[in-house]
Amino acid sequence: MSNIVVAKFGGSSLADSDQFRKVKNIVLDDDKRRYIVPSAPGKRFKKDYKITDLLYLCHAHAQNSISFEDVFKLIEDRYVTLAKELEVDIDIKKYLDEVKDKVEQGASADYTASRGEYLNGLILAAYLGYEFVDAAEVICFKKHKTLDLKATEKAFKERMANVKKAVIPGFYGAMPDGSIKTFTRGGSDVTGAIIARCSQAELYENWTDVSGFLMADPNIVEDAKPIEVITYKELRELSYMGAKVLHEESIFPIRDVCIPINIRNTNKPEDKGTLIVDDNKPISYSGTITGIAGKKGFTVIAVQKMLMNSEQGFCRKLLSILESNGVSFENMPSGIDSVSLVIEEEQLEDKLDNILEEIKRQCNPDSIDVHPNMALIATVGKGMDRTKGISSKVFSGLAKGDVNIRMINQGSSEINITVGVENDDFEKGLRSIYRAFVN
Ligand code: ADP
Ligand code: ASP
Ligand code: MG
Repeated sequence: MSNIVVAKFGGSSLADSDQFRKVKNIVLDDDKRRYIVPSAPGKRFKKDYKITDLLYLCHAHAQNSISFEDVFKLIEDRYVTLAKELEVDIDIKKYLDEVKDKVEQGASADYTASRGEYLNGLILAAYLGYEFVDAAEVICFKKHKTLDLKATEKAFKERMANVKKAVIPGFYGAMPDGSIKTFTRGGSDVTGAIIARCSQAELYENWTDVSGFLMADPNIVEDAKPIEVITYKELRELSYMGAKVLHEESIFPIRDVCIPINIRNTNKPEDKGTLIVDDNKPISYSGTITGIAGKKGFTVIAVQKMLMNSEQGFCRKLLSILESNGVSFENMPSGIDSVSLVIEEEQLEDKLDNILEEIKRQCNPDSIDVHPNMALIATVGKGMDRTKGISSKVFSGLAKGDVNIRMINQGSSEINITVGVENDDFEKGLRSIYRAFVN
């Protein structure tokens, strides 16, 4: 045990000075919380702006030579108010002016967006009395923009040799040439995981605005139950399929060293939250599902051809057509004489006609059907393969909810049953499956 806990706080946990106070109480409550990873200030209320969104907007304005003065003022006000209300000894206006100048001079989108975390980190470090360590000094990317874990571990070790407690902003790091590079949206979760790995932490705490990972998105199922324990693998399936509590890439840095993640609620620190554990950890299997998640916006291309199963190379041809069009697929359920390609709508845009033409020409199918406006719903649970009746419950739940199933795929991981439904049936479908398991 290393006696180190890394605590990441999300945007809503740091949205205003009241939230900062809660964060301070949490951090100071346990001496092990040595490395703190903040996001940029998030929404204070439903219709509020996230600082990161405003920063991207400033960048877009600057690129088009449109004044971003008004937008920047909103950002400035948030930070100046924070610094004032928290009475921190830091000239935040000086840092803000520096950011504004850089954006005016054409700074990159990544640099601009990363300043949300940078400025928040400066304030939080001063407020907690922790050292501020710029993520650009310790999170290293390779030339091809993927994380350089080896270089990161080395840089972390050197930089932190004499640092006992630090605030390290989330969401960004540096390229080999020193320029700033961000992760994809929600990426402070990934930073937290990397810092946990580099510090060999005993626990990675991820503090947010819900009391853990819930069995379904609370915006769809209001009373969704919290999940007490979940494996990395199940979590990955759920977060990849749209449960955005934790960035889907957060488990990669810590999976092989088995650091558990604890999702906690900053507004209810007394709640235990969800513990995310190593895949091999024996957890008692309850005989039911772990969670449900889904996404809208897919197109299904269904290809039929008699005796497809005995035609060698059919699927290879299909997939190489997608590849040559620069399109990846999400799912590929298949039968004896048919195969479907499930593809994100966004990816297809103006490529669909071309892809269909090529399939006709190269694969000579009996028919091709295109189903746009589809949603996918994944029901996930470890041990699903060992329990009878799970899939029938999913399907009867959907039937009871009067939701048509357009496609079924049981992932090869055997912890996931995915169904395709119309976009319009998405929320109803998700609720129907939930009710089939929880009443
Ligand atoms: P943070 O700003 O702390 O990073 P996020 O907004 O990224 O927080 O993630 C937390 C939000 O994720 C919750 O407020 C909730 O609306 C949403 N969410 C979606 N699916 C789930 C789920 N299955 N369990 C809990 N929260 C979920
Ligand atoms: N602030 C960034 C975003 O809004 C990163 C994060 O919050 O994790 O995407
Ligand atoms: Mg998040």
